[in-house]
Amino acid sequence: MIIGSHVNFGPEQLLGSAKTAISYGANTFMFYTGAPQNTIRKEIDANLTKMAHEYMLANNIDINNVICHAPYIINLANKEKEDSWNFSISFLKREINRITQMGVKYMVIHPGNALKLDREVALHNIADALNLIVNAETDAMILLETMAGKGSECGVNIYELKKILSYINLPDKFGLCLDTCHLNDSGIDIAKFADYLEELDKEIGLDKVKCIHVNDSKNAIGAHKDRHANIGYGTIGFANLINVLYNPKLKDVPKILETPWIGEYPPYKLEIAMIKDKKFNPNLEQDLINYYKSNPNF
Ligand code: FE
Ligand code: FE
Ligand code: ZN
Repeated sequence: MIIGSHVNFGPEQLLGSAKTAISYGANTFMFYTGAPQNTIRKEIDANLTKMAHEYMLANNIDINNVICHAPYIINLANKEKEDSWNFSISFLKREINRITQMGVKYMVIHPGNALKLDREVALHNIADALNLIVNAETDAMILLETMAGKGSECGVNIYELKKILSYINLPDKFGLCLDTCHLNDSGIDIAKFADYLEELDKEIGLDKVKCIHVNDSKNAIGAHKDRHANIGYGTIGFANLINVLYNPKLKDVPKILETPWIGEYPPYKLEIAMIKDKKFNPNLEQDLINYYKSNPNF
């Protein structure tokens, strides 16, 4: 299984992210190239990038499975606010440039928020923006994430994702990122994940799925909330998430945990252990506290 979690992109950039991933027992990871809520970015350091690649090679992380997540402040759906639409386009272009410098291929984006705009127009705007961002020379692949439907989010069902993709000029440069919490909150019962995959395959094609965000949810099916829970500690439940993780049709797709930290500790090492053992840990919090207390230099 290709599994990892969201990790920091600190002063050591990709090298630091890779080291953190290894400390979690992961063989891939997802990072933001800076804080997801702002636009402050440090130049990509070519030397750190080179060291990161050497480190990944030595530790069995395939750079082709590494994922970047675009910042939340990007909104491609609303063209009425022209300045912010243009800003979103140029900022996403820059972010793509940064991951290309690091040899990272996948960029997950939230399709956008329609705000007061008609949703069909918003879906068109998203594709218009993406057509301005991506050209034949673009090395990166943009993955549209399935959204929970909080507020005016676009990309909340197969229909909307298919619609966006249908307006795209270079479809080979685009894929999908499924998020289990978002699917649950958008109204999909993960207990019937096979049915969802069948429909997705029929409408868009499973070959388009390049990343899966594996999260439990704090809310009921269809709640349109988007609050992630630790694996097995939410409404989706451990068995249903294990079924997603071990689905043979998604075997080669990187799986990324975006579950919440417990107090001051990242849960990923113990969650990955649960997933590898296929065994729910009912003492996650206490085990985590014990683990990090006995390993203070994590
Ligand atoms: Fe996301
Ligand atoms: Fe996600
Ligand atoms: Zn989310």
